[in-house]
Amino acid sequence: MADAARKTAARAPAPSGLALYVHIPFCETKCPYCDFNTYAGIEALMPSYVGALANEVGGWGKALERPPLRSVFFGGGTPSYLPTRDLTRLMRAVRAAFDLPRGAEVTLEANPGDTVRERLAAIRRAGFNRVSIGVQSLDDEELRLLGRRHSAEQAKAGVAAAREAGFGNINVDLIFGLPGQLVASWEHTLEEALALAPDHVSAYALTLEEGTPMAADVAAGRLREPDPDVGAEMYRLAQEMLAAAGYAQYEVSNWAKPGRASVHNLAYWQSRPYLGVGPGAHSYLWANGLPALEALGADGARFATLRSPRAYIEAAAGWSPDGAGTPDAVAKSPLVSEREALTRAAAMSDYLMMALRLNEGVADADFAARFGEPIETRFAAPLAECASLGLLAREQGRTLLTEQGRLLGNEVFERVVGAAQG
Ligand code: SF4
Repeated sequence: MADAARKTAARAPAPSGLALYVHIPFCETKCPYCDFNTYAGIEALMPSYVGALANEVGGWGKALERPPLRSVFFGGGTPSYLPTRDLTRLMRAVRAAFDLPRGAEVTLEANPGDTVRERLAAIRRAGFNRVSIGVQSLDDEELRLLGRRHSAEQAKAGVAAAREAGFGNINVDLIFGLPGQLVASWEHTLEEALALAPDHVSAYALTLEEGTPMAADVAAGRLREPDPDVGAEMYRLAQEMLAAAGYAQYEVSNWAKPGRASVHNLAYWQSRPYLGVGPGAHSYLWANGLPALEALGADGARFATLRSPRAYIEAAAGWSPDGAGTPDAVAKSPLVSEREALTRAAAMSDYLMMALRLNEGVADADFAARFGEPIETRFAAPLAECASLGLLAREQGRTLLTEQGRLLGNEVFERVVGAAQG
């Protein structure tokens, strides 16, 4: 079952066009482990923020000549914290600026506390057809440790409400490897999560990000440091339980029922062009992806928007690109704070690092078609070294991470980047 499901998930339709990420930087409270560009206590900015964001969306639609979208993802932050009328307004702006095909995946990240049925039905009417619910744990004590505002019961009720509201594509986000967490408790969370029958599960190991209150608590000995061996055991348990329940793992941290792999997230892992709007959002525009990008000169561009919500609002509210033309929009936009023209070597190592996260790995033929040279030309040495360390396998014209490589992905990625730069 696991193999059949894996193949089906890997063959999820791959529509062309841009993946659009819409950043919502508001949270009701800030969780102690979170280092995302999100803020609590700035709700007064919501109205001006929504206006500025709608204007940025319109500006990019003009600059990119109203390109087709493959997916839309409202992330954050807590997009479900925005009033429904604002979500509706933003979706209208997206539809006006871009060509959003009927049935394209449109996701909203939601906190369980915001997912009451009536609200979700209105969100569906606004055009969202997938909801990603930040369940994180189904143990109340762990939820308190994570600083989450919801209880395990609310999380379960949130998933049920999303189903009742008609969402046929539901993801639940889970975190494991918490300070002091026992394997048995993680098993309980997995069991309870599977009983909710989501279509997709994301399970990430907690990372202690520098500068967060949780990292400080661990450094000061107030919280126990997570044990990587226990984390590895939890990861293997997730792999076993999810496979047994009919979920195919298609990426290091993601599992899906057949045909439910995330179209939007696959755009990142397959290095397809994506545009991020809102403060601190990242974009990756690849010259082969869109006709309007051919004039960029480099093979593509990577850029990020101003991080500060206030500075962003000021810059985005009055932004209007001069006519159509991506190169100018990227080069001159006052919203762009960091930009980098992509060399072929950088694009290659980006592509490998992202695509190796996928269970299907990298097909030699895809690499050669994309870059005009075989994968061995530049990467023979690191690939051979990783294979000899048991981190990579070469199978039927593909390069894949092994089970061990999935646990030690950074070892592989460092060698790949080194070879691209060398
Ligand atoms: S709700 Fe999500 S984005 Fe907001 S602070 Fe918590 S982890 Fe960060």
